[in-house]
Amino acid sequence: MTPHSWQRTKIVCTLGPATDHPGIIEQLIGCGMDVARVNASHGDHADHSRRIERVRQAANALGQPVAILIDLPGPKFRIGDLPDDFRKLAEGEIVRLIAEVSLVKEEGEGAEERNRLLPVRDPELLQALRPGESVFLADGSIELCVRTATAVSVRCEVIIGGIVRSGSGINVPESVLNELVPTDDDRRHLAFAVAHEIEWVGVSFVQSAGDLARVRACLPSGAGAQPLLMAKIEKRHALADLEGIVEASDGVMVARGDLGVETDLAEIPVVQKRIISVANARGRPVVTATQMLESMVEREHPTRAEATDVANAVLDGTDAVMLSAETAIGQFPVAAVRFLARVLTATEKGYSLRMAHDRMRATDMPNSPDKPPSALSFAACQLAARLSARAIIVPAHSMAAVLAIARFRPQAPLVVVAGSIRLYRSLALVRGVSPLLSTASGAGGTGLQACLVQAREWLISQGLAEPDDQVVLVSASGSACEQPDTLRTVRLSRVESLDG
Ligand code: PEP
Repeated sequence: MTPHSWQRTKIVCTLGPATDHPGIIEQLIGCGMDVARVNASHGDHADHSRRIERVRQAANALGQPVAILIDLPGPKFRIGDLPDDFRKLAEGEIVRLIAEVSLVKEEGEGAEERNRLLPVRDPELLQALRPGESVFLADGSIELCVRTATAVSVRCEVIIGGIVRSGSGINVPESVLNELVPTDDDRRHLAFAVAHEIEWVGVSFVQSAGDLARVRACLPSGAGAQPLLMAKIEKRHALADLEGIVEASDGVMVARGDLGVETDLAEIPVVQKRIISVANARGRPVVTATQMLESMVEREHPTRAEATDVANAVLDGTDAVMLSAETAIGQFPVAAVRFLARVLTATEKGYSLRMAHDRMRATDMPNSPDKPPSALSFAACQLAARLSARAIIVPAHSMAAVLAIARFRPQAPLVVVAGSIRLYRSLALVRGVSPLLSTASGAGGTGLQACLVQAREWLISQGLAEPDDQVVLVSASGSACEQPDTLRTVRLSRVESLDG
C-alpha cells in the first residue's frame, strides 16, 4: 500500500522552473501531488503547454489521477517600469501615481515634480482611489495614504517606506473596483484552459458572485467542455459576499498571500476558518494556499510553525493544501511535498475519526423535500460509519453526485468510478476521494457490474479491504450512469460480492 492511497487531504503543487528538471514531476506525483498548478501571471502559453503536457504524460505513465489548475492573473494592479528598476520611498514623502502611458506628457514638469512620479500600469486604478484610502505596495510592506485624487493623477503620502520595484503589486483594500473580472488577459487564458482541457480555473480577485457569472459566460456551453471555477478569496470585499461567491463557484481557494495584504494579517487564521467552513457547508472543495512551507524554498527542513499550520488547515476541514514558491522556484520541491504528505497523514491519523463524526453531527441535515440526494448521501455516510465499512463506492458521471457524499467527510475512502477522464482528474482535488477511471463500456447493468468489479480489485490491490469486509455502495438504480433526477440506491455489500 502506498502512503498516497491512505492520505485523504490533497496536495496542490505550483509548477515552475524548479519542476522543469527531468524526473521531478514523476517524483512529485510519486510523493503525493494530486493537482499541478500553473500560475498564468508568470511565463507564457508555450511554457504552460509544455508543463501541462509533461504532467499529463507522467500521470498517465504512473496511472494516477492528476488535475491541472490554472490561475488567471485577474485585475492585479502593478507599478510600471522605474528608472534603475527600483525606487526608495521615505516615510512622509509625497508621491504622485500616474498611468505609465501618460508619463511622456509629464516630461515638461520640473525635475522635483518628475521625481515624485510613480507610474502604474493600469489607469482604471486611478479612477477608483479616494482621499483617505490606503494603497499598499510590495506585498503590503509599503503603505501610502491618498491625499488628493483626480481621474489621472493621485497624490499620496508615504506612511511606511521601503523599496518598490518595477512590476511590484499594488493592493487597494478599501477601494471598490466593480466588474473588472474577467480582464481581457483573463479571457485569453480562459480560451487556453478550454483548448487544453484544463480541469480547474482559479479566478483571481473575485469580489462578487457576478464576477464568476461573467467568467462562466466566456466558457463554451456543452456538458463536459467547461473547466470548473475556483474562486480565489483574496479581496476584503469578497468576504462581505462570501456565501454568494461560494454558491456561485465550483470550488474555493483561501488565497492567503493577497488576503494577508487586503485584510489585517492578524485576522487571517480566523478568516481561513470562516472560508473553509462556508465551503464545507455548501459542499464546495476548498484549497488552503500560500506560505505553507515557505522556509523550504531555501532550506531542506520546515519550521515547527509551518508543520502546525498545515495540520491546522486539515483540522479546519480543508480539501487540499497548496505549495507555491516551494515547488515552483524552491530548492527542495520533492522534499517539501514529501514532508507535506507526512504531516497530512499524521494529522488525519490522529484526528480524522473524531473530526468526521463531529462533522456529520454538526452538518445541518438538509430536510427540505427537494433534497433527496443529500439525505440519501448522508444516510450512506452514517451507514458506513456505524458498520465501520471499509469504503463507500460510487459509480458517477458528475461532480455533483460525488460532492453530495464527500461533503459529509466520510471516514471510509470514497472510491469513485468516474465515467469520464475529466471527472476522474477533477476529483483529484476533493478530500477523501480516490478516483478510478471507469473501464466499463456502457451504461446499464453491465456497466454497473464492471464498475463494481473495478472498485473491488482496486480496494484489494491497495490493501484497503479484504474479500470479507463490508462496503457501502451508492448507485443510480440499475445503472452506472446517474442523472440529476435518477432514483439512487444505497446498498451494503461484502467486497467479494461486488459484481452486481
Ligand atoms: C495568493 O495570493 O495567496 C495566491 C494563491 O495567489 P498568487 O499566488 O497568484 O498571488
